[in-house]
Amino acid sequence: MRCPFCASVDTQVKDSRMAEDGSYIKRRRFCSECGSRFTTFERIQLKDIMVKKSNGVVVPFEREKLLKSIQVACKKRPISDERIEKIVSSIQRQLEANTDGEITSKEIGVLVMDILSNLDIIAYIRFASVYYNFDKKEDFLTFIDTIKKEISIFDEGNKNLDAMSYNKCTINPDFPNNQVNDKNDLFEK
Ligand SMILES: [Zn+2]
Repeated sequence: MRCPFCASVDTQVKDSRMAEDGSYIKRRRFCSECGSRFTTFERIQLKDIMVKKSNGVVVPFEREKLLKSIQVACKKRPISDERIEKIVSSIQRQLEANTDGEITSKEIGVLVMDILSNLDIIAYIRFASVYYNFDKKEDFLTFIDTIKKEISIFDEGNKNLDAMSYNKCTINPDFPNNQVNDKNDLFEK
């Protein structure tokens, strides 16, 4: 496995552990070139998933890209690597179970936002910001307004961001102007 930090292929497995439910094997790896440590997960892929982008192009689903986009959104939030893995796996299972045609990148984005909005409001806002590809300040503020209306987190006195949840969320895949961010290749090659 190539080192994500220095690209060296000289990496070693230091520790392997199977998940309690046997659904994946987690390996701690060490790069002898730069000394970095990183984790990989080995898991089953039941079938190939194809994703239709908004420009009509169909591309293979890439689990790693989805994982990365969620990791970025969850950075420094109280969400463990294992939790993120479970989120990605649950999305992957849902995609595999969808047998009627291709999945759109939009649908995947909505699945992610649905999960994140119930898990961590900051991660949700970050992910949504990339997904909706806000290019105007007004669009972003409108988005925040819709959130503020539905949750009590901005209530006076409630300063505990970690306790926030967004259970009543209604996710609009087309907000604010039907422009979904395919340019950053959020979920696919
Ligand atoms: Zn390295």
